[in-house]
Amino acid sequence: MNSFPGIAASPGYAAGPVHAIRQRAIVPVRRSLAPDEVPAEIQRFGQAVDKARSGLQELVDRLSSELGPEGGEILASQLLILEDEMVWDATLAVIRDEKVNSEAAFSRSVGDIAARFLEIEDETFRERVNDLRDVEQRVLRCFNDADPQHLILPLVPSIISARNLTPSDTAVLGRNNVLGFAMDEGGNTSHVAILARSIGVPAVVGLKGRAVALEPGRQVAVDGTDGLLVTDPDEETLEKFRMLTCQQVEVSRKLEHLKDLEAVTPDGHRVHMMANIELPVEVEEALARGAEGIGLLRTEYLFFQHRTIPTEDDQVKVYSEIVRRMDGRPVIFRTLDVGGDKVSDYLGAKREYNPFLGWRGIRFSLANRLLFKTQIKAIHRAAISGRVKVMFPMITGVSELREARQVVAEAITELVAEGVDHDPDLPLGIMIETPSAVLAADTLAAECDFFSIGTNDLIQYTLAMDRGNSRVSYLYRPLHPAILRSIRMTVEAAHRAGIPVGLCGEMGSETRLAELLLGLGLDEISLHGATLPKIKQVIRWTSYEEARRMADHLMSLATPDEADRWLAEYIADRKRQRENGGNQ
Ligand code: PEP
Ligand code: MG
Repeated sequence: MNSFPGIAASPGYAAGPVHAIRQRAIVPVRRSLAPDEVPAEIQRFGQAVDKARSGLQELVDRLSSELGPEGGEILASQLLILEDEMVWDATLAVIRDEKVNSEAAFSRSVGDIAARFLEIEDETFRERVNDLRDVEQRVLRCFNDADPQHLILPLVPSIISARNLTPSDTAVLGRNNVLGFAMDEGGNTSHVAILARSIGVPAVVGLKGRAVALEPGRQVAVDGTDGLLVTDPDEETLEKFRMLTCQQVEVSRKLEHLKDLEAVTPDGHRVHMMANIELPVEVEEALARGAEGIGLLRTEYLFFQHRTIPTEDDQVKVYSEIVRRMDGRPVIFRTLDVGGDKVSDYLGAKREYNPFLGWRGIRFSLANRLLFKTQIKAIHRAAISGRVKVMFPMITGVSELREARQVVAEAITELVAEGVDHDPDLPLGIMIETPSAVLAADTLAAECDFFSIGTNDLIQYTLAMDRGNSRVSYLYRPLHPAILRSIRMTVEAAHRAGIPVGLCGEMGSETRLAELLLGLGLDEISLHGATLPKIKQVIRWTSYEEARRMADHLMSLATPDEADRWLAEYIADRKRQRENGGNQ
């Protein structure tokens, strides 16, 4: 047995066999054929395509039954490509005319078609290139008698090991036989970590090469609470993990009574407790934990679940379902936030040298106005089913906000002209997640209806640390004075302008920070459903006046180390006081 430290990315304990995900592209070698080999080669090609097709169909069926109809659609368009005569005919022509092996012929044909698609100035063609390439790899794996799945899903409950996973691959894996994640890269606010927490699966990231070194089938355990990977765990370790899991379940059970109570301090200060969600399946969990609404719906994940851009009607269907299920509680739709680590080739977002400083969030949406307007129209149409607000990500200044508002105005004009039922008057808010938005918060507050502080990006941009890079994850310090000052400045600017301000970054899920966030004056905290009851409990226990004093003191400390130490002592002291009070 050996244990390796990593970064705790999603709490919980799990043990099982390793399911390794390695995604190396197959590049076929060209081989010349004798003329009499051609018919057999054509037959080989047909067999590989058949095998790819049945593997794909199996995966589509499995995703449909697990994630509902939206799940099946993720890969359904790839089935169509396999039927496409253009690909088929072009490959047969190369095998016959040039007398080359079918793998090379197929790869060439796909490459030619992809190149032609990329030249066309039309999003729908460009978006198909990613699918074409995926299908290419699927078929090529079939020639080698390997499994045809692009992403091979585990057949038995397993720990997923990988160098890294894209957020979209993580979404496809979902909870399907996934007991835990062990990854070499990533930080605890990388989007894969966030998604793991959303679906309630333990994860350790930043394992620096230990994860890819794991052989498939080897027994391992992950401790996502303390950030540990254990290989060949002994019975004692497994027993300890089982016990800790039981304790977690017991803590959740004890907090169940808070579900319908408000997050209000003993001296009457109220905070609204909302949930962050990525996928519609998380709505039930949010409601079960007592969320008063959805404070952050990361709509990009609904796009990742499709392999082509969902139409306005497709979006209306999914959005309306979420709004209806929230039954009159507010739902904040954050418009598409792709770019950074959330790259989706079919959307045209590209890999860049400095992705987090690149074509991301609102920049991407404003450059793809049609896509943006379609999403805005869909949100306004879904809004007739309940209470909806719209929020723009990655705003750096008023010009972007004005331009985004202009798109909203155009969307409403079109909906009116089309005579489609919609709610024209939705509150429009912005994420405060860039230092420039903090410094210009007063100008932004004058032109929008609410703020939500995205601390994951705010910390990344303020402290200049890539949130997905495990080498600099030690710089993720929520108690850095620059971060605390940024939050306070934002809250003050919002309140001076008379608009509410929430926080929806991962900071909101840290129990130790709950009193601080209360004391900083936030009106709303949006977090993962599973952590909501604990944070609510802290708020119900703490006087607002005291929280304000503790926030003031924390803000006076010069380094995050001092602040961490002081906070740990303060919390221990509070606990002792509560216990003594309880014993009296
Ligand atoms: C944030 O940046 O804090 C945030 C909530 O948005 P995301 O994590 O999706 O970038
Ligand atoms: Mg963000």
